[in-house]
Amino acid sequence: MTDDQLLRYSRHILLDEVGIEGQERILAAHAVVIGAGGLGSPAALFLGSAGVGRITLVDHDTVDLTNLQRQIAHTTARVGQAKVLSAAQAVQAINPEVQVQALQERVDAARLEQLVQGATVVLDCSDNYATRQAVNAACVRQGVPLVAGAVIRFDAQVTVIDPREAGSPCYACLFDPQAQFEEVACSTMGVFAPLVGVVGSLQATEALKLIAGVGRSLAGRLLMLDGRSLEWSSLRTARNPACPVCGGAPAPTP
Ligand SMILES: [Zn+2]
Repeated sequence: MTDDQLLRYSRHILLDEVGIEGQERILAAHAVVIGAGGLGSPAALFLGSAGVGRITLVDHDTVDLTNLQRQIAHTTARVGQAKVLSAAQAVQAINPEVQVQALQERVDAARLEQLVQGATVVLDCSDNYATRQAVNAACVRQGVPLVAGAVIRFDAQVTVIDPREAGSPCYACLFDPQAQFEEVACSTMGVFAPLVGVVGSLQATEALKLIAGVGRSLAGRLLMLDGRSLEWSSLRTARNPACPVCGGAPAPTP
């Protein structure tokens, strides 16, 4: 680490649980963030400020005026720009040291698998069920830990899928990928602005903990927040042996 890096990351290095070694791991890490919207904005900003060496941002969309109420990586001046480029600009303004790869793409299962392969951690900051399931499946197959977050109206949830941990459930163990329900587009739904900040920040928290090897992750726990009462609840979750994504097959070893 250079003198500048020792200063920039000093408040992490001062933490016994992180220290020089943990910060080195963060600098060497590669995080893939799927979605550069409400959750992806704070998640990417904190990953960048914390010095995650390589960040891949994936989102096909462009910045729209209706995004600015909650998607804090974007600005009025960048309306119309690709979200990934706008978010990359915001991250680099905070920390020019990190390498940001901005991919303006709509990803399918095969592309996702390619993108998550070799990543240190993946953050699912997407806004729809189909993408969440596809990201989960790719991470399970590649044995890469995943931090999944979701916010709708005043309700939020976050969990960690860690295929490296035996007995740890995947997203499809908790939510049936075959479930047929009407996909409610985020564009027609209300979202209470700061809640995406809370959840996106929690996703960055879990991602950095996984990278640096700090504490215990949310694997096997679904954390939920009711924004109206600000009551947190947490549900213990278990692997479903009949899960179509992770069931039957042994977990890949790291
Ligand atoms: Zn599963």
